[in-house]
Amino acid sequence: MLAASYAGARRITVEEREPVEPSAGEVRIAVAYVGICGTDLHVFHGDMDGRVSRPATIGHEMSGTIVALGAGVEGWSVGDAVTVMPLAWDGTCPACRAGNEHICQNLDFIGIDSPGSLQEYWNVPASTLVRLPSDISLRNAALVEPVAVAVHDVRRSGLAAGDKAVVIGAGPIGVLIAIVAAAFGAEVVVAEVDATRRAAAEKMGLTTLDASSADQVAWVEEWTDGAGADVVFEVSGSAAAVLGATSLAKVRGTLVVVAIHSQPRPIDLHRVFWRELTLLGARVYQRHDFERAIELLAEGAIPAEQLITGVVPLREVESAFGLLETGRAMKLLVEVSAS
Ligand SMILES: [Zn+2]
Repeated sequence: MLAASYAGARRITVEEREPVEPSAGEVRIAVAYVGICGTDLHVFHGDMDGRVSRPATIGHEMSGTIVALGAGVEGWSVGDAVTVMPLAWDGTCPACRAGNEHICQNLDFIGIDSPGSLQEYWNVPASTLVRLPSDISLRNAALVEPVAVAVHDVRRSGLAAGDKAVVIGAGPIGVLIAIVAAAFGAEVVVAEVDATRRAAAEKMGLTTLDASSADQVAWVEEWTDGAGADVVFEVSGSAAAVLGATSLAKVRGTLVVVAIHSQPRPIDLHRVFWRELTLLGARVYQRHDFERAIELLAEGAIPAEQLITGVVPLREVESAFGLLETGRAMKLLVEVSAS
């Protein structure tokens, strides 16, 4: 079988490898499609070398079909279409014991901390499987994981139907949060500095705002009759956005930190105090977020065709990273089964 491996900064090798039999409790999946995300790009750049072993087969946004069952696996059959919730927790740490297994203090994020899906056959614990209904194509199902991120972020925010939300950053996750928030009944505006990204978001039916413009606070005030937004999602990862975000939220509004900030950021704590804002983090997802993501894709609430801006074969996976670096691609898929 073919497998892609991260071999060090800016190097991905694709080579033949012997498939391994699934262990007890595991299934072997014939991988169909793998999405490449911002985290994978960080790995590619070498920014995560302290965490990622080398060579490492990465990839965690995927779809595929079960082709073999390890000993003791029940409830699954060869031929089942599946995606994987790529989290493995220890079940014993304080976070797990409190019911927060998805952010276990010793979390194994499969595809970063352990082998991922950029290979033709992938063995995973059966406990990570999520069943795909027949009305979602395997191509669109590669979006389930990023949609589940968006569902988790919107759930965490406490957003209610009729609320007004600002999403800062129109990358794939920002756009998905906006689409999911709208599907939950909120009114949403996406603030983005890049005109090309704003245009892409508008093509998907989203309202956008130029985040580099000095009057975005005034725009949000007018939009909300002087109140400010119920929820602000910080998805851009930029220091300026964090500093400005508190000015966009209403009294007792919520600021959700979604982006991964690689260093500490200044934040207007006086504004947090003055308006009694809630500041909260949102990371990965839980099983019910995956299930809701699948429902949203099946209902056609997610514009999958517009989000998937390219598909490359596994042998050309390195080119997908190059395309992502331009910032012009939305979601790139690797077609693993076609190579
Ligand atoms: Zn734990």
